[in-house]
Amino acid sequence: MYYPYVVVGAGLAGLTVAERIAAGKGEKVLVVEKRPHIGGNVYDSYNEDGILVHNYGPHIFHTNDKEVYEYLGGFTKWNDFWHRVLTQVDGNLIPMPITLETVNRLYNMDMTPEEMEKFIAGRAVPIKEIRTSRDVALSKVGDEIYSKFFENYTKKQWGIDPAELDTSVISRIPLRYNRDTRYFTDKYQGMPRYGYTKMCQAMIQNKNIKVLLNTDFKEVRDEISYGKLIYTGPVDEYYHYRHGGLRYRSLSFVMETFDRESYQDAPVVNYPNDYDYTRITEFKKLTGQEHRKTTIMKEFPREGGEPYYPFPTADARAQFSLYQKEMEAEKNVYFLGRLAEYRYFNMDAVVRNALDLYRNKLA
Ligand code: FAD
Ligand code: UDP
Repeated sequence: MYYPYVVVGAGLAGLTVAERIAAGKGEKVLVVEKRPHIGGNVYDSYNEDGILVHNYGPHIFHTNDKEVYEYLGGFTKWNDFWHRVLTQVDGNLIPMPITLETVNRLYNMDMTPEEMEKFIAGRAVPIKEIRTSRDVALSKVGDEIYSKFFENYTKKQWGIDPAELDTSVISRIPLRYNRDTRYFTDKYQGMPRYGYTKMCQAMIQNKNIKVLLNTDFKEVRDEISYGKLIYTGPVDEYYHYRHGGLRYRSLSFVMETFDRESYQDAPVVNYPNDYDYTRITEFKKLTGQEHRKTTIMKEFPREGGEPYYPFPTADARAQFSLYQKEMEAEKNVYFLGRLAEYRYFNMDAVVRNALDLYRNKLA
C-alpha cells in the first residue's frame, strides 16, 4: 500500500499535520493509530451515566499563541473556562498555585501584596546556581511552602526527589503576589464546547484523510510505503530500542460516579501529602455539563504502562540525545509530539510544532 504521506498516531500532533496535508496541500494522507479511537490523550467520551469524561486525565486548553487558538477554533467553539485548583494542606483546601490567597490562608494572615513579597523574600533560600526543581521551589518560596505544597506531590508524581528533576517541572507552577487564583493566566483558555473528540473528528473531515484504528505501526511497517512519514509515537520504539528504552512516567486512572450533583469545590483538588493519588478531577466542573450525578477521577502515578510523561532528568535527556542524532539524519521521516520529541509539551505547543513542521518542511 503506498501513500504520499503516512502519519503514525492520531493525537493532536498527528491530526494537526494530517489536516494540514489534506486541506492545505490537497494530498492524500494515511493516519495509523493503535488505539481504537482518535484524539490520543485528549480523547473524551460519555460514560455509562452520560457524563462527559476525559479518559486520559483532565485536559484544559490554554495558550498565548493566537494562531494555535484560532486554528483549533476552526474545528470547535470554545466554552469560556478559567481553571482553578485547590490543594489539601494541613487539612485545609487552599488555592494553588502559590498566590497571596494561598499564603494568607496557610498562615491565617491578611497580608497585602507588598507584605507578601517581604514575607516570601524572608523565607526564600538563596541558591547560586538553580539546577533542579528543588532549587526552583526553595529559591522562590522557601522550605516550608516547598515541603507542604511541592515536595511530596512531586515525589508521588515522578517517583523521585525534586532534586533529581530538571528545573522545567516545578517551573510550570507560577508564584504570584496577587489574588489571581487562576491556575493558568494565558490569554486564551477554554474547553471545546462539545468535547475534544468532536473537535478532533472535525479536523479529519476530509476525503483525503484515511484513518486506520486498532493498527500498531510496528505490525504494518513493512506493508506500508510512503513518500514522507510523520511519526508521533515513542521514539525509542521507532528505533527498536537500540539505545535502550527511554523512561516515561505513567498513570493509572480510577473513575467513580456518585449519585449527587457535586463532589468537590473545584474542578481539580490536589493531594500533595495524603493518599497514593496526586489529584481528583470532577469532570462536570471542567466541562460545564449539568447532570444529577457526577463523575470523578483519581490519578495514581506509576512506572511502566502507557507512556504519558517523558522523564525530565539529565540522564533521560542524555539517552534521548542518542536517538536525536539518528532522528536528525533522517531524510523523509519527521518526529513530532510529546512521545517522539520526548518533551513535556502542552497541547498548544504540540499544535504549534505541527503547524511549523507543515509550513517549513512539508508545504
Ligand atoms: P498523544 O496524544 O500521546 O498521541 C500519540 C498517539 O500515537 C496516541 O494516540 C498513541 O496511541 C499513538 N501511537 C503510539 N505509538 C503508536 C504505534 N506504534 N502505532 C500507532 N499509533 C501509535 N496539555 C494541556 O495543554 N493542558 C492540560 O490540561 C493537559 N493535561 C494533561 C493531563 C495528563 C494526565 C496528560 C498525560 C497530559 C496532559 N496534557 C495537557 C498534555 C497533552 O495530553 C499533550 O500535549 C498532547 O495530547 C500530546 O499530543 P501528541 O499527539 O503529541 O501525543
Ligand atoms: N506540582 C506540585 N504540587 C502541586 C502541583 C504541581 O509539586 O500541587 C509539581 C509537580 O512536580 C508536577 C509539576 O509541578 O509534576 C507540574 O504540575 P502540572 O499541574 O503542570 O502537571 P500536569 O497537569 O502536567 O500533570
